[in-house]
Amino acid sequence: MRLNWRRSSRAEDQLEKWFLERYQEHVLAGDTTPPGPHPDEDFLRSLARKSKQIALSDPRIEHVAKCQLCMSRLPALRQEVKARRRKVALAVASASCLVIIAVVLLIARSSFQKQSLANNMAVVVRTVNLWDAGTLRGAQPGTLQSVSLPADIVRVTVILPRFSPPGQYLVAVTRSQNGEGLLAEGQAVSATSGDQERVSVELDLRSAKAGQYFLSTTHEQDQASYYYPLQIR
Ligand SMILES: [Zn+2]
Repeated sequence: MRLNWRRSSRAEDQLEKWFLERYQEHVLAGDTTPPGPHPDEDFLRSLARKSKQIALSDPRIEHVAKCQLCMSRLPALRQEVKARRRKVALAVASASCLVIIAVVLLIARSSFQKQSLANNMAVVVRTVNLWDAGTLRGAQPGTLQSVSLPADIVRVTVILPRFSPPGQYLVAVTRSQNGEGLLAEGQAVSATSGDQERVSVELDLRSAKAGQYFLSTTHEQDQASYYYPLQIR
């Protein structure tokens, strides 16, 4: 944009120089009587703009090159043209700046939204295998089985202990082994995979401080809950 403007400004300098040279030639030749009447202001302005529509064969060019009055109007008109171009260039530049700023803000906002969405929706997937914990039912189930989950939103798939019946299960995280201090829970119908029953629930553990908890499973029909020590990191 700026380069263009400079280039056309140089062209006008050349045009002015060209007129000046023609005028000097005419003065030296003693031929300073301009042919025809003074061309109108619009024509002079076109000259100042170095409009390509003007042919050098135009008789008004010959007039201007010989007329001191018309020649003296040219620099003033050129200043006008320059000032207008500068104004347009400035307007375009500030408009471009605004567009760039708007685009940058939009990109920043959308990536911020994506980021915060990702932060909020990040779901950690974990599998908890209690397959062998079943043999310890009723005794001290936790001693052999230790489960660890992060303090996130966790999509946890529990592989239920051997011989667990299919059906709806409640999976919960509590602070104590008697079911008190409920932190999170989720219900789902188990899915059979080979010999195994698996139940997948989403547990929001974001509010949990790192420490010892209990993970429990409760079948919808036999209301007994089984607790397994859970470490939240
Ligand atoms: Zn004139």
